[in-house]
Amino acid sequence: MIEGECISSSLLDRAHEVVAEVLQEGDTVVDATLGNGHDTLFLAGCVGSSGMVFGFDIQQAAISSTAERLEAAGVDRYCYQLKCESHAEIGRYVTGSIRAAMFNLGYLPGGDKRKITQSRSTIAGLSTAGSLLSGGGVLTVMCYPGHDGGADEVAKVNEFVHALDIDQWSVSLYLRREATDESPYLWVVNKNSAKTLSS
Ligand code: SAM
Repeated sequence: MIEGECISSSLLDRAHEVVAEVLQEGDTVVDATLGNGHDTLFLAGCVGSSGMVFGFDIQQAAISSTAERLEAAGVDRYCYQLKCESHAEIGRYVTGSIRAAMFNLGYLPGGDKRKITQSRSTIAGLSTAGSLLSGGGVLTVMCYPGHDGGADEVAKVNEFVHALDIDQWSVSLYLRREATDESPYLWVVNKNSAKTLSS
């Protein structure tokens, strides 16, 4: 069963809250869409100097922006790996289990709005992240139906989420109170046990 909730606070803040709930110092996590590195910095803070953040983005601008943010915040260089690579390739770089993966879809804020996440690689990334997730871990997916191509992509994400086996996964949907069809929304997918992804 999918739980739905309308909230008045920020969806990005809610994503951070649900991820923080499951993380501990020393965990390994994935930021699947680095952008300007806000989520990466948040994840690095949660897992601490004994943890590891793997970050992916297809744009060098995002890698640079994220690296600057982490360096400015004094995050230990050995606690993160930033890859200029699609999140479809997560499995080439991350082989052990992860405790969380954050997907923030769409385009780089302040960047080229034509370089958007695409359903094919997004679903590939979600599938791999789901299979790497340990029991009790969480995936978050910020969806943006409002830009060109966004509605098609999030329709595929919705299909992916609805196809998950409810014996293995708990799924919640968060919307802002005043949401329209084009408003962003957030999927939160918790893995119930240490089983493999069934979708
Ligand atoms: N999480 C970011 C932050 O905290 O600033 C915002 C992410 S932004 C909304 C989406 C990012 O996804 C863009 O930087 C874009 O380059 C990136 N992207 C697009 N396709 C991708 C792919 N296949 N793999 C990884 N990143 C991708």
